[in-house]
Amino acid sequence: MQRDRYYTIGIDIGGTKIAFALIDDKGVVREDKKIPTRLTGGSEFIQNEIGGQVNSFIQKYGSSIMGIGLATPGYIDPVAGVVKNAVNLDWKNVHVIDVLKNTIEKPLPIYLQRDTAAETLGEYYFGAGRNCQDFVFLGIGTGFGAGALTSGHLLTGSHNMALEIGHLSVDEKGPQCACGNVGCIETILSGKGLVNRAYDLFDASHDPNYEKIKDSITARQILSMAKAHDPIAEELMRKMAKSLGFVCAMLKSVIDPERFIIGGGLGKAIFNMLTGEVEEEMNTHVFKLDDRPTGFYKSSLKTSAMGAAAMVWYFNNILPNSLKNKN
Ligand SMILES: [Zn+2]
Repeated sequence: MQRDRYYTIGIDIGGTKIAFALIDDKGVVREDKKIPTRLTGGSEFIQNEIGGQVNSFIQKYGSSIMGIGLATPGYIDPVAGVVKNAVNLDWKNVHVIDVLKNTIEKPLPIYLQRDTAAETLGEYYFGAGRNCQDFVFLGIGTGFGAGALTSGHLLTGSHNMALEIGHLSVDEKGPQCACGNVGCIETILSGKGLVNRAYDLFDASHDPNYEKIKDSITARQILSMAKAHDPIAEELMRKMAKSLGFVCAMLKSVIDPERFIIGGGLGKAIFNMLTGEVEEEMNTHVFKLDDRPTGFYKSSLKTSAMGAAAMVWYFNNILPNSLKNKN
């Protein structure tokens, strides 16, 4: 029987959009689609929009589909299949697996994980973490998230919250965070954080050129400004590199990974610009006698839904063809 005739469905449920992908076991995306997230829909949204898309895959690919992986932000219970609290989705105690199981036309195993944990698995099976048993994935997007594979196992912790470090407060004099604390990692290492810090500096400069743009500034614009050597944008990039270097030093000391994989929209955008500085900063914090090399890699997943799809392989304990005949 040909293994490459098996497919998995990945669904990455984000605050603004939902990414679907149907991929084969070589990691080739056969179909993908994005739809906007309707925040107030709850169960009805899962039935109609998500269930509807899954059913259209089932009608087309039938018994070749092995299962479904669901990735969501927030605090989840993967065993019960419940999203307990996802602020970005406005979901509280949503029994997402049960609702989807009752909606789809064919019984299929469904797995649930936090989005960064799913992306970590995606990198392992199909991306920059292929054939690497120990790595840390850092997702810098609207927010900040991390995941890790240690000795080939997904690090989950006792409450499935391992490496949920975006709101770890690392600077008691740092800026106020939306979570109520100060100096959280996310206050600089995220699109939202970067924009807020730019606003603060533009505002404090009293420079009319900055005043004009401060209310509509985006992370992408700040990056372009840094490339054009704008002093405030360059200062922000240095802050990001310093902060990311510190986070990497902390994780290197705790987890001892072979690689750091930098993903997320903003993470990928700053990768070439900042990796040298990040590595330098990391090395100033770690144990000086520690000369273990740690590589920096850019995420290479085509869509975040590939991570969700990778869960099906991981939790079924089956090696996809993308990992065979390697090494
Ligand atoms: Zn916070």
